[in-house]
Amino acid sequence: MGPTAHLVDLQGRSPVGYTSRVTTHEDTPGGAAGDEADAPMSRRRAPRPPSFVHVTQLSHLIAEARSYSQGVARADLVDSLSMGRNAVDRRLRTAVEMGLLVPAGRGMSTGGRAPEMWRFNPDAATMLALAVSYRQSTAALMSIGGEVLERVTWEAGLIDDPAAVVTTAIDHLTALRGSRPDLPAPWGLGASLPTPVDFRDGSIVPPVAGAGSGPSWTGYPARTRLAEALQMSVWVDDEVNMMALAAASRVGAPKDLLYVRVSLGLGMGIVSSGQVHRGAGAASGEIAHIQMSGAGGAACRCGRRGCLETVVSGGAMEDAATTPQVLKTSSYLREVMSEKDTIRDIDVFRGVAQGDRVCVRIATEAADRLAVVLAVVTTTYNPGEVVLGGDVTASGQLFGQVVSQALRRRVLPSTSERLRIRMGHPDDALIGACRLAADRLLSPHVMHVWLAQGSPVGVAELVTHRRQDA
Ligand SMILES: [Zn+2]
Repeated sequence: MGPTAHLVDLQGRSPVGYTSRVTTHEDTPGGAAGDEADAPMSRRRAPRPPSFVHVTQLSHLIAEARSYSQGVARADLVDSLSMGRNAVDRRLRTAVEMGLLVPAGRGMSTGGRAPEMWRFNPDAATMLALAVSYRQSTAALMSIGGEVLERVTWEAGLIDDPAAVVTTAIDHLTALRGSRPDLPAPWGLGASLPTPVDFRDGSIVPPVAGAGSGPSWTGYPARTRLAEALQMSVWVDDEVNMMALAAASRVGAPKDLLYVRVSLGLGMGIVSSGQVHRGAGAASGEIAHIQMSGAGGAACRCGRRGCLETVVSGGAMEDAATTPQVLKTSSYLREVMSEKDTIRDIDVFRGVAQGDRVCVRIATEAADRLAVVLAVVTTTYNPGEVVLGGDVTASGQLFGQVVSQALRRRVLPSTSERLRIRMGHPDDALIGACRLAADRLLSPHVMHVWLAQGSPVGVAELVTHRRQDA
């Protein structure tokens, strides 16, 4: 039985997008599969491709170990992975040789000798991450564990010409890649965009019918451009999905959660049973354009009137903060206006953090209205957590408290009693982008492509792969 047959047996589908380099290797059926691949890859003269069984077990073992922050004992891995002791030992040895797992001391004794523990090594590799936002972008060099090591932020984003933004991003990412010669070379890039992305191939799909008059990112081959210029594998996704993934990757995070991004635009990411839920057409969580009866009929960027985004978004708050009457009543906003000649949503959120009464009123009204929609969504979905992120994180805790109170007034205790509402981290888009790319590189299908080389760095097939969901 060849490895492709194994793959179909295990996964019920064929590999998509990657040209399998396994053409000659035969697996040994009956449990001994992949043993020859246990020798350290780097020391081999002519690397023989590992079997798909080996890679799948290794991938699952690393992912399982990663889910324990304090480390995991071999016996727990045997139980949770339904793998034999010998197989777990061998995969554990490979993962340790690769530096991905490291000893984590000894666990609790259950009578005999306390077991050896193993944990994921957040410094085993580095990753590149790119978070394009509406007006700003950030490129970062990160540890595979999600820590930002170096970063560059510049003024250009989704409202600007995609070719110019991506070209600048490539320059910054190239510089970041060489900025820390003391660390392992980055394995790949995760890139987030605040617009719907077809996750199958990373293509950018229209955000909303008739949206905006600015330069169009729709159809721009951002993923191919980045991959070819950087010669590494690239995964692109909607910013809210990346943010939701960051929230879901936190220690102790519930398996079901919602991430609501309140930046210039409004968006929602959904995590269900620990997985990002993308929906049938890259449009899951598009709550911004729900028509609100009390929205006053303001024109929306989608071409319609009275959408939720016209009353709850950074853009709506900017409009509210720049009226002459409002400026008259807030010395804080007047100061910002005279300094910058404009007021950005982040300024309003900072005003909330500083206790400016006018900014607090604007944000409170928005939070109240957001709660109306969240009451419906949380009652339907029953998440364990709603995370409020994006620019709104600059406002401190108040926005979350208002949403929480308004929401709890509107739903049954059965919905709210196990619901936590918290503010997100300003780096959630970067953290999620890094996590997505790392998870994909360590998934069985992708790991199978590079494992024989010891690392994904410089593996040509990863640069040219068409599918990013395989
Ligand atoms: Zn709209």
